[in-house]
Amino acid sequence: MAPSTLSRHAALDGWRARPYGKRVLTTVQAARYSVRGTSLGGVYTALHVPELDALFDCGLPLRSAASATNLFLSHGHVDHMGALPALLGIRALQGVRKTLRLFLPATLAPVITEALAVISRLHRWPLTVDLVPMEPGDEIPLRNDLAVRAIRTYHPVPSLGYLFVNRVKKLRPEFASLRGPEIAHLRRTGADIYFEDPRYELAYVTDTLPSVLEQEPLLFETRVLILECTFLDPRKSLAEARAGCHIHLDELLPFAHRFNNEALVLMHFSQLYTPAEVRRLLAERCPPELRRILRPHVPETVDWPG
Ligand SMILES: [Zn+2]
Ligand SMILES: [Zn+2]
Repeated sequence: MAPSTLSRHAALDGWRARPYGKRVLTTVQAARYSVRGTSLGGVYTALHVPELDALFDCGLPLRSAASATNLFLSHGHVDHMGALPALLGIRALQGVRKTLRLFLPATLAPVITEALAVISRLHRWPLTVDLVPMEPGDEIPLRNDLAVRAIRTYHPVPSLGYLFVNRVKKLRPEFASLRGPEIAHLRRTGADIYFEDPRYELAYVTDTLPSVLEQEPLLFETRVLILECTFLDPRKSLAEARAGCHIHLDELLPFAHRFNNEALVLMHFSQLYTPAEVRRLLAERCPPELRRILRPHVPETVDWPG
């Protein structure tokens, strides 16, 4: 609503809405990537990384990112996928022509197909996606230089994490002294003059036991790691956190010296804590080497959105 319309409206009935909705989304700058969206454990998680044209989970339909090409679904709990039909509805409303590519744990593919068929009957409009079922270890190219690899995570339902690998081609050292025309000639003859130097750009890992870090040590070397840290203090015991297959800060701190990432984006905090408490607890409890790279995905608002 334009400001002039709002003030006319306010003059009529004597009240005006506070601009609370502006703060639904939070953007965290993590190295070269912006992580936009919102995440609150058990309530909603929906993130968008525009540099990768990627959505991560869909606990809320992100209107401003609805036209993204790829959605990476971690698992089927409703705080991570409950808003998928709404996202598809927004894409139709916005006239997005390309079908959303939905990467997901392989066993969920038939269930999502069935669920969307039922919602399509309610909506009386076909809600369709291109499913890309994945198993841990699978790698699928997204662009010439970028691929996504599925990572095993540890949750009571089928689940996956996602690791983005930039496959940079470099000239083999033995050819480094050659001039341009000589290299071009070798290329034309089909000589094997390049080798691949993979760069681990970003990983999205949520709703899992912390053992994922031991099983996938590459996560410590990824440029940006987006990781859940649902519980932060004794209000939730370690035993309770483990029973729900979530990460407690107590179990993350022993790994503090191993995070080689440029940025560690922690998210999926429990609503046991206010946003300010999350900041305070992380500042108080994390050692300097962790605080240096820590980018908590927490809004500036007093309370969580919604
Ligand atoms: Zn969750
Ligand atoms: Zn879950």
